[in-house]
Formats: sequence, structure tokens, C-alpha cells
Amino acid sequence: MGVKRVSRRDVLNLVETIFFIDFLKGLSVTLRNMLRKPITTEYPAEKLTPPKRFRGAHGHFVWDGSEPDSLKAIERYMSYEKGKSRCVACYMCQTACPMPTLFRIEAVQMPDGSKKVVRFDMNLLNCMFCGLCVDACPVGCLTMTDLYELAGYSRRDAVLRVEKLERQGIDFKSRRGDEPDRIWSDDVHREKLWGKIEWSG
Ligand code: SF4
Ligand code: SF4
Repeated sequence: MGVKRVSRRDVLNLVETIFFIDFLKGLSVTLRNMLRKPITTEYPAEKLTPPKRFRGAHGHFVWDGSEPDSLKAIERYMSYEKGKSRCVACYMCQTACPMPTLFRIEAVQMPDGSKKVVRFDMNLLNCMFCGLCVDACPVGCLTMTDLYELAGYSRRDAVLRVEKLERQGIDFKSRRGDEPDRIWSDDVHREKLWGKIEWSG
């Protein structure tokens, strides 16, 4: 989109003064836009489904048998339960986070020598939803979901415990898991909202 240069004169000429030219120009813009389809939505009555790669509230993918073979070896060293978080408590997410204190991660050693994650809390009040933690996770456990309605009645509501992270991860995978990984919902949906995008070059 080009930049439109606007030159302003301090004084209107005679014709502009008599015939309200500037007023009519402004009115024509208003009338033109009155006939256009609005691009806004009537939230909360109408809710958009964000694209899959939207950075909403976090979730944990669970150990459910669908892991890639490259991760299977971890099972020997971890005290995993089926359907529970596949986190290995490596702290990579916390290390990558610009606000590391929002994480509380704890793990213990079990009698058989394996490792068990006993705590994984995230305080989303301090989160800027940058996604660095997700990129850093070496086992693809941490994800960001399409959940964006995060308001609560107390500060405690903003803290995600591991159980909630697991629920959100399971829910996200079941609803959106098969979709291609992209930043738009889909081309038809996008064009309906914002028109056709002409890519340059
Ligand atoms: S999204 Fe960014 S700020 Fe939020 S927890 Fe992850 S790394 Fe930290
Ligand atoms: S980076 Fe992944 S595996 Fe490591 S502590 Fe964070 S969520 Fe767990």
C-alpha cells in the first residue's frame, strides 16, 4: 500500500469556502464506507476461530502413545503415566522465557531411579505470549492453544496448574490437531475478512 501525501493550506480558496468542498469530500468518504461490509465482528456474540498457530493460553501435550519414535527412549528415564504431561522437567522453557519467575517446575526422583514431574505452574499474568518457551521445549510438550478468553475474577485464576495445562493440551489436539500448521485460519476465511492479499515479489 502506497503512502498518500496530503498537502494542507492554511486558507481555503473562494470556491472551497462557498461550496463546502472539504465537507463534501469528508461526507463522500463516510457514505462510501457506509455501504461496505464491516470487517469487525460482534464479540462476544460472534467469536472468530483463530488460526492454529495463534498464541493463546498454554497447554501440555500428554504421553498418549502418539509420540514420535525419537521420543520413545525417554520413557525409560521418566515416571510417565498415560494421558499425563510428557514434560521432562528440563527447565528449557523457563530458561528461554523473558520472565522466568512465572514458572514453578519441580521434579523428584522415584525409588526406581526415574524422574517424575510433580509441579508445573505458569502464572499467565506475567506472560507476554511470545512463544519462546514453546520453541525451547525439546520434547514438544509445551504448546500454545487457540484459547484467548483468559479473563478471571482473581489473580489465582491466571495461574495454570499442570492438570489444566494437560486438559487444554488434550482439547487443543483433539480440535485442531489435524489442521495444517499455519498462521491463517484458512484462505477462504481470511479473504472474507480482509480481502485477497497480493503478495509482492
Ligand atoms: S509465552 Fe513468552 S513470556 Fe509467556 S511463558 Fe512463554 S516464553 Fe515466557
Ligand atoms: S521445556 Fe518442555 S519438557 Fe522442559 S520443562 Fe518446559 S515443558 Fe517441560
